[in-house]
Amino acid sequence: MALSPILAGWLDASAAGLDAGAVAPSELLPRLAAADLFRIGAPASLGGAGGGTFDVVETIAAVSERSLAAGFVFWGHRAYVEYLLQSPNAALRDRLLPDLFAGRVAGATGLSNAMKFLAGLEELQVSARAEGGRLRLDGKLPWVTNLRAEGFHVAAAVSGPDGRPFVASVAHDRAGVIRSPDLDLMALRSTSTAALRFEDVNVGPDEVIAPDALDWCPKVRPAFLGFQIGMSIGLARRSLAEARSAAGAGRHALGTELDATAERLQAGTDALRKGLAEGAFVARPAELFRIRIALAEAANDAVGLELQASGGKCYLAGPGEGFARRWREAAFLPVITPSLVQLKAALAAQGEPTGRAA
Ligand SMILES: Cc1cc2nc3c(=O)[nH]c(=O)nc-3n(C[C@H](O)[C@H](O)[C@H](O)COP(=O)(O)OP(=O)(O)OC[C@H]3O[C@@H](n4cnc5c(N)ncnc54)[C@H](O)[C@@H]3O)c2cc1C
Repeated sequence: MALSPILAGWLDASAAGLDAGAVAPSELLPRLAAADLFRIGAPASLGGAGGGTFDVVETIAAVSERSLAAGFVFWGHRAYVEYLLQSPNAALRDRLLPDLFAGRVAGATGLSNAMKFLAGLEELQVSARAEGGRLRLDGKLPWVTNLRAEGFHVAAAVSGPDGRPFVASVAHDRAGVIRSPDLDLMALRSTSTAALRFEDVNVGPDEVIAPDALDWCPKVRPAFLGFQIGMSIGLARRSLAEARSAAGAGRHALGTELDATAERLQAGTDALRKGLAEGAFVARPAELFRIRIALAEAANDAVGLELQASGGKCYLAGPGEGFARRWREAAFLPVITPSLVQLKAALAAQGEPTGRAA
C-alpha cells in the first residue's frame, strides 16, 4: 500500500511533532482524510472505496511505518467507522458516515472496557437507566483516543437498564459529556487521548450502535484487532528496514536474527490476511490472539534490532530521533487492550499455546 507523496511527506516531517505533542492534534485527521484513507474497506454503496478489512490493515501499517501516533488515530477513527458499518442502525450510519469519511468529525472507540468485560476482566464502566423512552448514561471511559477537541462521536459499551450490555454512540456536545484535558503521555501525544465522564447523558434509541453487545462485540473483534495489528506490522517493517540499511559490521552479525524476525512478520501478516478473508476469527479467536501476540513481539524485536544494528548513533538526540520515537512507540503495542498479558492469560486458560516460549 503506497501512500500519496503529499501525505507521506507530511507524516515524515511531522512524526517527531506528533509524538511529542508539538504538532496540533487537530491537523492529523484532516490530513488522513484528504488522502481518502477512511473510505478504504467500506462499500462503494455507502460512499466507501471498496476493498476488505485487510486493505485497511495494510493502510494502517503504511501510516504506522512513518508515525505510530498517526497510525493509532487512524485505528481509533476507522474502528468507529467499522462499528457503524457493522451496525444494524442504518439511520445512524447514513447520518454520520459522510462527515467521518471526510474527517470533519472524529470517531473514537471506547470499547477496550467492553473487550475486557467480554474476557471477564472488568465490569462495564458506563450504565444506563431508562427515562421516557430514552436512556440516561452515567460512568467513565478512562482512556479514549481521537477525542478531537473540535468534535467527536465515541462508541461506549453500556450496562443497560435490564443489566444487558449494549453499545451506544455518544456525541461530544451532549449535555453531561465531560472530556478531560489531553492525558500527559510519554509518547503519541498529538493523538487527542483523554478521559471521558458521562453525567446523566441523554441518549436515544436512534444512537444505539448495537443493542446486544455480547453478540455483536465478538463479530467486530476481528476488525478491531486486525486494525491494531496493522500498527505492529508497520512499525516492524520500518525498524527492520532501518536495521538493514544501517552501515557497519553489526548489520552482518545480525543477519540471522533480522531474517528470522522478517519471516515471523511475514508469516503473521499472511495468516492475518488469510483468516480475515475467510472470516475465520469470529469462530476461532485464539488464532487471531496468537497473531496479535506474535506481531507485537516481532515489532518490539525489530526495534531492538534497529538499535543493535545502528549502534551509538541511536543514543544521539539528533541522529537517533527516529529510533527513540520508535522505541517509545513500540512500548505501546503490548499494552493496548487486549494487552499481551490478557491474551496470553486467555490462551492459557483455554490450554492453548501462548507464544514463542510455549
Ligand atoms: C496511549 C493510550 C491510548 C489508549 N486509547 C484507548 C482508546 O482509544 N480506547 C480504549 O477503549 N482504550 C484505550 N486505551 C486503554 C487501553 O487499551 C487499556 O485498556 C488501558 O491501558 C487500561 O488497562 P491497563 O493497562 O491499565 O490494565 P490493568 O487493568 O491495570 O491491567 C494491567 C495489565 O494486566 C492485564 N490484566 C488485567 N487483569 C487481568 C487478568 N485478570 N488476567 C490477565 N491479564 C490481566 C492487563 O491487560 C494489563 O496488561 C489506551 C491506552 C493508552 C496507554
